[in-house]
Amino acid sequence: MERETKCIECNGFDANKESGLCDACENIELRKINGLLYLPAIGLIL
Ligand SMILES: [Zn+2]
Repeated sequence: MERETKCIECNGFDANKESGLCDACENIELRKINGLLYLPAIGLIL
């Protein structure tokens, strides 16, 4: 009997084991991280 793991963020889609997030929420998290990295970089350029 397989146990399905639901996304901890949207509680809807099947989640990846490592992150506990589904693919959609993982992408959102990645974008957040990228945004945090880009903001200081833009500040340096300006
Ligand atoms: Zn999700």
